[in-house]
Amino acid sequence: SQRALIVGAGHAGVQLAASLRQEGWTGEIVLIGEESALPYQRPPLSKAYLAGKSTLDELAIRSAEFYSKQGIQLLDATVEAIDRSAGHLALSAGDTLPYDKLALCTGASPRRLSIPGADLVGVYYLRTAADVEMIREVTSPGCRAVIVGGGYIGLETAASLRALGLEVTVLEAAERVLERVTAPEVSAFFERIHREEGVNIRTGALVEALSGDGRVREVFLSGGESIPADLVIVGIGVEPNTELAAAAGLVVDNGVVIDDQARTSDPDIVAAGDCASHDMARYGRRIRLESVPSAGEQAKVAAATFCGKPKMIAALPWFWSDQYDLKLQIAGLNTEYDEVVCSGDPIRDRAFACFYLRAGELIAADCVNRPRDFVFSKRVIAQRLPVGRAELVLAGST
Ligand code: FAD
Repeated sequence: SQRALIVGAGHAGVQLAASLRQEGWTGEIVLIGEESALPYQRPPLSKAYLAGKSTLDELAIRSAEFYSKQGIQLLDATVEAIDRSAGHLALSAGDTLPYDKLALCTGASPRRLSIPGADLVGVYYLRTAADVEMIREVTSPGCRAVIVGGGYIGLETAASLRALGLEVTVLEAAERVLERVTAPEVSAFFERIHREEGVNIRTGALVEALSGDGRVREVFLSGGESIPADLVIVGIGVEPNTELAAAAGLVVDNGVVIDDQARTSDPDIVAAGDCASHDMARYGRRIRLESVPSAGEQAKVAAATFCGKPKMIAALPWFWSDQYDLKLQIAGLNTEYDEVVCSGDPIRDRAFACFYLRAGELIAADCVNRPRDFVFSKRVIAQRLPVGRAELVLAGST
C-alpha cells in the first residue's frame, strides 16, 4: 500500500493526517514530530499554559487513542533531509524512511536576537511547550521580566506574567505596539490596557545589548539607558522552517511555495501551515499566514489533493489573541486599507470593533470583546457584501 509521510506534528500535520483518513486514504500514515510530547495546541502556550492555568495534557490536539484508532503512526524523530530521487527521508538517527507522498508541515522558528549578550542564560524564546517550562522555572512573583517585542506574543506573555505576579516591561522598537498588524487606534487601546494592568510599555525602545555575569541582568537601550532584568523573553517574529525544502530543491519564497491545492513544485510533495506561502488572489500577492485556522485549512486541502479530490485554499484568514479579560478576534487582512471606522470607544471601553476599508469595501476587522461584530465582518468580507459606514459604526449595538 501507499505510504504518506508528514514532517512536523503541529496543527497542520495533525489536521493533514486526520483529513487523509477522512478523504479515504487507506495506506500508511506516519506523522513525524521532534517535540516528543503528544501533538499539542500552540496558542495557549503564551496564554493559559504560561499563566499556569492548564497542563500540557489538556492542550493535546487529539487523544493518543485517536491516532491509534485512525491508524496514524506517531514517530518521534527529526527529519534531516529529503531525497526526492530515491523517494525517502533521512532521519537524524541515521535511518531512512521511504514515501509515496510527502507533506511538509514544519512550522516556523523564533527569529533570534542578534545583539551582544543575546546568548546569556535567562534569555528565552516562546515557541514550544519546552520553552514555556523553562520560563516557568524562573518566574517567581516580584521578579523582573523584560519582553523584547510588542507583537501578539509579547503582549500575551506580558498579560500572563502579570497574572503570575511578575514586574513586566515590554520594549517595542516601533512607535507603537502591534504596529505591523493593526491601526493606531487598536495599538493605543492595547497600550492603555497593559499600562492599567501595571505593565511598563516602552515604545520607540531599541534594544542594543544585554549584559550580566553569565546570567542576564540588564537590558541596554540605544539611548544608553539600562533596564534591570531577571529574565528576558524575546518575541520578535518567526522565520519559516524551509531548510529541508530548500535543500531538496523545492521552490521557496518566504515559505515553501504552494499553489491553491497546497502542492509544492514537486507533485508528490505538499506543504501547509506556518512553513508555506501561497498566492492569494484576493490580496494580489504571495502571503505566508501564521495562524491555526489557516494551517488547518491548508492541511485539509493538502489531504484532499493526495486523495485525488482537489479542493481550493479559499477561506478568509482569521486570527485571535487573548490578553487579560480581552478577546481580540481578527477577520481578514488589513493590507493597504485607506480608512478605519471604529464602533465603540477604544479610549473608554473594553469592547469595540475597528473596521478596515479599502475603496469603501470592508477588508478586515479587529473586534475586542465583540464576537457578533466578528461574525458579521467575516461574512461581509468573505462575500464582499456592500456595507455602509453608518452600519459599521452601529454594528455592535444592533
Ligand atoms: P507548528 O505548530 O510550528 O508545528 C511544526 C512542528 O514541526 C513543530 O513541532 C516542529 O518541531 C516540527 N518540525 C519542524 N521541522 C521538523 C523536522 N525536520 N523533523 C521533525 N519535526 C519537525 N495562532 C492563532 O491562530 N491564534 C493564536 O492565538 C496564536 N497564538 C500563538 C501563541 C504562541 C506562543 C505561538 C508560538 C503561536 C501562536 N499562534 C497562534 C500561531 C500558531 O500556533 C501557528 O500558526 C500554528 O502552530 C502553525 O501550525 P504548524 O503546524 O504550521 O506549525
